[in-house]
Amino acid sequence: MPRIVVDRERCEGLGMCEAMASDWFEVVETDDGDETVSVLREEVPEADRAHVHAATQACPVLALSLVD
Ligand code: SF4
Repeated sequence: MPRIVVDRERCEGLGMCEAMASDWFEVVETDDGDETVSVLREEVPEADRAHVHAATQACPVLALSLVD
């Protein structure tokens, strides 16, 4: 089953992923006041692959990938 992987160094909390797939991604505040993405479910059933893949592709700083 594909899995969502986040590059924390890249994520800037811009929220495109949440806007596209709020069941999977949520922007949260970090302890030092920055914003970053929280992945609500890491494993992606095949039926949701296209939807989640589109959301990962929407990230402007390429912080998200789907890994088989
Ligand atoms: S993963 Fe990308 S789109 Fe999602 S919050 Fe981080 S920077 Fe924004």
